[in-house]
Amino acid sequence: MPKRPSFPAEERAIPWLGLLIDAHHTVDKGVKKAIDSELRRGRRLACREGCSNCCRTHRDIPVYPLEIMGISWYVRNKINGRDRDILMSQLKQTGIHRPCPFLVEDRCSIHIMRPMACRQFNVFDRPCDDGEDPFYTRPHDLLPPVTRYIEQAFFIMLPFHGVERESDRIRAIEDRLMHRMVKNLKECNWRLLCF
Ligand code: SF4
Ligand code: SF4
Repeated sequence: MPKRPSFPAEERAIPWLGLLIDAHHTVDKGVKKAIDSELRRGRRLACREGCSNCCRTHRDIPVYPLEIMGISWYVRNKINGRDRDILMSQLKQTGIHRPCPFLVEDRCSIHIMRPMACRQFNVFDRPCDDGEDPFYTRPHDLLPPVTRYIEQAFFIMLPFHGVERESDRIRAIEDRLMHRMVKNLKECNWRLLCF
């Protein structure tokens, strides 16, 4: 099973950080199970480190409020050196038709904090072509959504939004409260992280 990233001192000081990492870890476990199940059916995972056409092509990358905070925290506190220099220039020029601003030299510079949408997005059998968005060209090659795990992740994150009681959280998930808060990563004002 995937290992949960850990920032002990920061998680003690920043209460929402542990919630976010737990939520992401839940999704990672679901994705791992789903991939294993596809592999057992004889499929071959095409996604590899350094394969990044998807990060250039996707226009719509859903991101939730806590994830925006996690990415902001990570960029401000954990990215240094050359990656930081490149990011600072990319974050000033974000846009829906541009590659994801967090893609640095064909790597995700925020890999530990990447959104659930990116964690789930896996393609089988052959890598994406330049400019191909398999969501439209070959949806049958995508990992099926890990909905149950995403809902568990929402359940973990909801106390941050003031929804604490278990019954209220279940109702909020049914009412798609989290979906109403989603943003597009490419349309967020990441420029603010440059100051
Ligand atoms: S989704 Fe496509 S481009 Fe992205 S890592 Fe997987 S195969 Fe490569
Ligand atoms: S956040 Fe990372 S994985 Fe997601 S699109 Fe951007 S570079 Fe790719």
